[in-house]
Amino acid sequence: MAYDPNNIFAKILRGEIPCNKVYEDEHALAFHDINPQAPVHVLVIPKGEFVSMADFTAQAPDDLIVGFMRAVGKVAEELGLVEPGYRTLANAGANAHQEVPHLHIHIFGGQRLGPMLDRTFSA
Ligand code: AMP
Repeated sequence: MAYDPNNIFAKILRGEIPCNKVYEDEHALAFHDINPQAPVHVLVIPKGEFVSMADFTAQAPDDLIVGFMRAVGKVAEELGLVEPGYRTLANAGANAHQEVPHLHIHIFGGQRLGPMLDRTFSA
């Protein structure tokens, strides 16, 4: 899938629309999800034009991949989520209901979280 530079997270990165910022460095920006699914629900996005994890890991320069992943860990740490526990999740594509076509890692925490997935699959 080609990257759409008009997606909402691209606009947030360009400062065209606001976000409730949690963390920023040269590689990543983190902000609160506008429609939180847990007491803590933060999104971390890389500073670059990548649709998904597959796109990012195939195309991004090494320093951006390292910097982005470090930022995810740092945000979890700074939010006080490491000891009580938290979940990271990245949706990609239609099967995962990805809404915004700019790679983002959800960080959920602040309470005991539910099952990893809807229990609609049985092997
Ligand atoms: P996904 O389904 O993984 O693509 O998730 C997209 C997430 O972005 C959803 O949880 C939305 O609530 C969130 N979202 C959409 N627009 C904004 C926005 N302007 N600021 C913060 N979060 C947003």
